[in-house]
Amino acid sequence: MSIKKVSLAPDFFVVVGAGFAGSVVSRELADAGNQVLLLDKRSHIGGNAYDELDDAGVLVHRYGPHIFHTNSERVWEYLSRFTEWRPYEHRVLGVVEGKQYPFPINRDTLNRLYDLDLDEQGAAEFFERVREPREPVRSSEDVVLNSVGRDLYEKFFLNYTRKQWGVEPSELKAGVAARIPIRTNTDDRYFTDTLQAMPLHGYTKMFQCMLDHPNITVELGVDFFDLRHRKNWEQIVYTGPIDSYFDCCYGRLPYRSLSFEHEHLAHTEKYQAVGTVNFPNDHAYTRITEFKHLTGQEHGGTSIVREYPQAEGDPYYPIPNDKNEELYKRYEALGKAEKGVTFVGRLAQYRYYNMDQVVGSALTAAKRLLE
Ligand code: FAD
Ligand code: UDP
Repeated sequence: MSIKKVSLAPDFFVVVGAGFAGSVVSRELADAGNQVLLLDKRSHIGGNAYDELDDAGVLVHRYGPHIFHTNSERVWEYLSRFTEWRPYEHRVLGVVEGKQYPFPINRDTLNRLYDLDLDEQGAAEFFERVREPREPVRSSEDVVLNSVGRDLYEKFFLNYTRKQWGVEPSELKAGVAARIPIRTNTDDRYFTDTLQAMPLHGYTKMFQCMLDHPNITVELGVDFFDLRHRKNWEQIVYTGPIDSYFDCCYGRLPYRSLSFEHEHLAHTEKYQAVGTVNFPNDHAYTRITEFKHLTGQEHGGTSIVREYPQAEGDPYYPIPNDKNEELYKRYEALGKAEKGVTFVGRLAQYRYYNMDQVVGSALTAAKRLLE
């Protein structure tokens, strides 16, 4: 179906962006009997969770590693309509002075790093002894110093955060570093959510299944901004960066970008011991992920990706600090006043959302639209 032929009926919606936010809303609207035109300027569905076979036939995530984890039964059950799952618990090692340590920091990290033999109680006492109490805890620097003190902060957090965000941890909201727990036990999983798994046949297959509906038309390679002034679209769901929607009228809302260096290593069963290795203090990249750990794929070679943070490029992360949140609030107010347009998703809501949180937010947005 061509865009020109789509009618302007009251049950017709245009959805901008075919990532989690746009795809979930589209499916919900379609299931309720509405016609949906889903646009994405990229050549594929799935947004940043898009995965594909690389030239060697290894399933890779084009926009960096995506590991699904949630505590929400509602989100889990919703996505389970479109995919089966492969149980997977992500593990990460952090490299400090050439050695790999469990990360997030746990008791084994302490024992190996400082050559100790602490039990759980001993680890708790260790943290109590080295922590620098902060009150109030406002920034990401506060969070880490307050829980593990300066040495661990400098070894694992300070330089990674500088590299990832291009600002000091003291200039980032507490919530950024608070994503990373500190443990006195020996649990070395990156996430502790009750539900952790990867879509059995990949994310793209899951999105295909979600969007396979007679009421949904997907148009790829289409930039909404090239069309919106020529169309009388009355009901829009927008999941791109919110500042772009308003022509950056209050100035650009900063988003952090990345460039991804993908590499296939032939005749290499395994490249590294765990899914991701973090490099807080070395290299221009933050981490290396080996996809076969995540997907369980068997292949004679292996594929990895290195992530290089950068200021310019596709927007991937909102940058949580007071100044940016103030600016976002001004755009949000414009959004609320914009008749017939719903803003949802990580870029449109300027929230450091994980995938499950985007799904939750999209389900709520769709429910509101359908009421
Ligand atoms: P997006 O996926 O960004 O989709 C927005 C879509 O809108 C894009 O496809 C874009 O092309 C399109 N668009 C924008 N503007 C226009 C326009 N003008 N016209 C047409 N189309 C437009 N979450 C987890 O839960 N676990 C993880 O392990 C994890 N790892 C991550 C790793 C990286 C490197 C990154 C960047 C994110 C990670 N996330 C992870 C977060 C996850 O990617 C997001 O929460 C989720 O994909 C956001 O979905 P979305 O639909 O809001 O946005
Ligand atoms: N972080 C860090 N060192 C690490 C890993 C994470 O300092 O080895 C900090 C850093 O500020 C990072 C934040 O914790 O941006 C959140 O990490 P997470 O792995 O959740 O980031 P994401 O996967 O979203 O890029």
